[in-house]
Amino acid sequence: MKDNLQIAIDGPAGAGKSTIAKGIAHRLGIFYVDTGAMYRAITYKAMSINIPLDQEEAIVELAWKCDIVLDHTEARKIHCDGQDITEAIRTPEVSRNVSIIAAYAGVRERLVDLQRREAQRGSVVMDGRDIGTYVLPEADLKIFLTATAEERARRRWLELQKTSKQISFAEVKRDMQMRDQTDQQREVSPLVPAADAIILDTTGLSVEEIIERIISLINN
Ligand code: C5P
Repeated sequence: MKDNLQIAIDGPAGAGKSTIAKGIAHRLGIFYVDTGAMYRAITYKAMSINIPLDQEEAIVELAWKCDIVLDHTEARKIHCDGQDITEAIRTPEVSRNVSIIAAYAGVRERLVDLQRREAQRGSVVMDGRDIGTYVLPEADLKIFLTATAEERARRRWLELQKTSKQISFAEVKRDMQMRDQTDQQREVSPLVPAADAIILDTTGLSVEEIIERIISLINN
């Protein structure tokens, strides 16, 4: 395996990006960077200190001030200004609001800078929406994961069932569709596959099968 290998995994919500990226990181012994967690961290922080999410200037200022730290152990904790927010950023409320702040160019500038710095620390698998198109345009392998809207909503709903949050399947599906639409239509770094990305439909495939397929692509 080469030094400083870069694997970019993009795709819509619920396509399985983080599960697959974590599996690859574990198998190859490389860093995993969850860029969605960074956008969620700013959203959570703004909500917790009552900054209205439509106040772009205040949100951008907050993004530059927040000290976001990703822990690279298997626990994969995320801290913001010293507070462990790993669980807090996964609520339906944060999911519902995150694409508002992710559309702000100033927020993206700050987080992309952090993401590129993470990639300089060593070999990395990074997941998000704009990794192959913008954050790591020279990545060695670019994967765009998809699955049907039904399957993606089902996965996310099952995940949420493990938490104390009660939310219906229909609600999860609706929130997810709205989020994808906002992510696809924003002006800055919208969710689109990079021209050189390999598109992988994960519907009906097991996590192990997808990981195997991606690892075989690295070795080719
Ligand atoms: O990956 P996850 O679902 O946690 O991402 C949450 C949100 O963060 C996405 O819906 C999108 O609005 C934003 N995001 C982004 N660019 C990334 C990663 C996430 O805009 N690279």
